[in-house]
Amino acid sequence: MTVNLLDFDLEGLAGYCQQLGEKRFRAVQLFRWIHQKGARDFDSMTDLAKSLRLKLASNAHIKSLDLISQHDSADGTIKWLFDVGAGNAIEAVFIPEEGRGTLCVSSQAGCAMACRFCSTGHQGFSRNLKTSEILAQLWFAEHFLRQQRQTDDRVVSNVVMMGMGEPLQNYTELIPALRVMLDDHGYGLSRRRVTVSTSGVVPKIDALGQDCPVALAVSLHASNDTLRNYLVPLNIKYPLADLLAACLRYLQHAPRDFITFEYCMLEDVNDQDAHAHELVRLVRAQTHVDHWCKFNLIPFNPFPASGLRRSSAQRVLAFAKILTDAGLVTTVRKTRGDDIDAACGQLAGDVQDRTPISVRMAHQRLHGSTPQSSRRERATESLP
Ligand code: SAH
Ligand code: SF4
Repeated sequence: MTVNLLDFDLEGLAGYCQQLGEKRFRAVQLFRWIHQKGARDFDSMTDLAKSLRLKLASNAHIKSLDLISQHDSADGTIKWLFDVGAGNAIEAVFIPEEGRGTLCVSSQAGCAMACRFCSTGHQGFSRNLKTSEILAQLWFAEHFLRQQRQTDDRVVSNVVMMGMGEPLQNYTELIPALRVMLDDHGYGLSRRRVTVSTSGVVPKIDALGQDCPVALAVSLHASNDTLRNYLVPLNIKYPLADLLAACLRYLQHAPRDFITFEYCMLEDVNDQDAHAHELVRLVRAQTHVDHWCKFNLIPFNPFPASGLRRSSAQRVLAFAKILTDAGLVTTVRKTRGDDIDAACGQLAGDVQDRTPISVRMAHQRLHGSTPQSSRRERATESLP
């Protein structure tokens, strides 16, 4: 079987080229062809010797993901659904904004964390994505959009690991993908423009700080352990005190950065004034350092199986005011791509729809939309 070169970061590719008897600078050339120029065909790599191109053609390939469907929102948001085999699909969402373009990337097919308010969590876990499958979402989006806009300039300026799955539960495959995003010979994104969002896998937060300290978003959603145990079951293993301590340790590796705390607003569950005051105390109790974190309040996107409701806009604003008045930088996530259900864990809305993926794909090809999806707001405005 030939190897997919999208599975390698630059070091990996250099090692692979060495096995083929090639020098490191050839790996750099090849890497740039793949990621900067979007090449998938070795014949187009004109500055590589013919002998190397032939060697590569018989030993390796550059394979993206199979596209199931694309949905374009009136606000410019684009959602792609990809087939990852064995009846699984994942999604990536592009969110264009003034002066930047953010890509929301998936890390797993499904998720094992079982957060109550998350449709992906209700769907359960299928499998980890490979490095190539994580990167293919960026590779595809970047080069598709460049072609569409007829430009050689970079289109995706920010990546958020906020699609399907818990990225830190797929650490081994995630790290090389992050490295390619940051590599100057790859996508050249600064580490503040790549965000990993986690429900709180404490040991892996520490590892990420050591290995690749990109921007960190932590899905908090609760102001005390009892509530968080209920909403984010991972909290039973890694309670708030441990999680917040890990966040502060992380900042030692990412100086002048801040942690973004995501907080999904659930009516009568975690959205009362008392919760906001408790959050202020919680954050204050950790450190005397000011401005080490920011809050991003997410209006909940309801789905029937959750049994939960979205807080009213008024409640969200009142909650935000308590945090802001206490000196905590707080933003409210705005809705993007509503008309195309452009949300992380999109297929999760199909939890009760046990239609085989092949049938769903056929349906989408015919009708151009998913049979049923839940929605989630996009979070980009408060990220670095
Ligand atoms: N697993 C990671 C990243 C993917 S989820 C994490 O949990 O952080 C990305 C964000 O969407 C998280 O903050 C998550 O809490 C939020 N989210 C999940 N389901 C949601 C829903 N139904 N409505 C609003 N936000 C949701
Ligand atoms: Fe998984 Fe994140 Fe959803 Fe929780 S919120 S179930 S960690 S994808």
